Amino acid sequence: MVNRSQLFSECRTALENSGIDTAHFDTLCIFQDMLADKNPLFKPQESVPDDAEKRIRELIKKRSEGYPLQYLLGEWEFYGYPIKVGEGVLIPRPDTETLVDQVLEICRKNGMTAPKIADLCSGSGCIAIALKKQLPSAEVYSVELSDKALGYLRENIKLNNADITVIEGDVLKKETQQQLSHLDIIVSNPPYLTGEEMRELQAEVSHEPGLALFGGNDGLGFYRAITELWRKSLKLGGYIAYEFGEDQHEAVKKILTANSFDNIQFCRDGGGIIRTAAAQKIADGIPRFIDISMQCG
Ligand code: GLN
Repeated sequence: MVNRSQLFSECRTALENSGIDTAHFDTLCIFQDMLADKNPLFKPQESVPDDAEKRIRELIKKRSEGYPLQYLLGEWEFYGYPIKVGEGVLIPRPDTETLVDQVLEICRKNGMTAPKIADLCSGSGCIAIALKKQLPSAEVYSVELSDKALGYLRENIKLNNADITVIEGDVLKKETQQQLSHLDIIVSNPPYLTGEEMRELQAEVSHEPGLALFGGNDGLGFYRAITELWRKSLKLGGYIAYEFGEDQHEAVKKILTANSFDNIQFCRDGGGIIRTAAAQKIADGIPRFIDISMQCG
């Protein structure tokens, strides 16, 4: 029987040799999960039971082939909350925590303690759950289309004991939009990768659902459609908050201003990329020219 230390270095080396930059971290996560021990290396001489060794080797093999760590573990943390993930649902990214922070900041500044919020393209539900946990009096709706994602969404809502209403439907369809009105906040991390980006996906991302990634050829299809369609569901003075990809902020700003949104604020993610925008619905009428300030927070 192999001991923990021997197996660990063998696994870490296997991942390193496959070009995984986070070989140590990934091996540790797999050991923690398979051995049900937060600190598996505190007992380096302990022998690893045969069945655990077999399972660890299987997971390391899959990981070395570029399969996402988060899918192997089946759960990932977002904003401090556990989120179940697997094939068919987008893995929560730390960048998306910026979007949650921005919405919470809007609520704080505007004294909204019980806002009515819709999370469009909710996926695993990570955004909706983080918001509901942080704002317990909020009325939160999660809108999602994919059956697989809906399964995870419902499971995550239960797991986190969050009172969120799920709406099954396509955010691009009027009949979905018409189910919600008088919203204070619309938040969305829609698919935003371009056609070109879809052809060059990182190995890990290629295992994630195309439906959650592809935003039309220029990556902006959902921003155009959601902004135009869903503004009707927002209260006057309500906010829309989006996550988007690198260098998409100018294009998203144009879409927002063309639809009578103002007070646009951008936020950078932990990597310094302008990652989110929030804007206020200022009129029900026709578009007008607006001076946009570029700041954070
Ligand atoms: N952030 C994801 C990526 O870069 C894309 C998620 C999305 O399209 N909303 O792969």
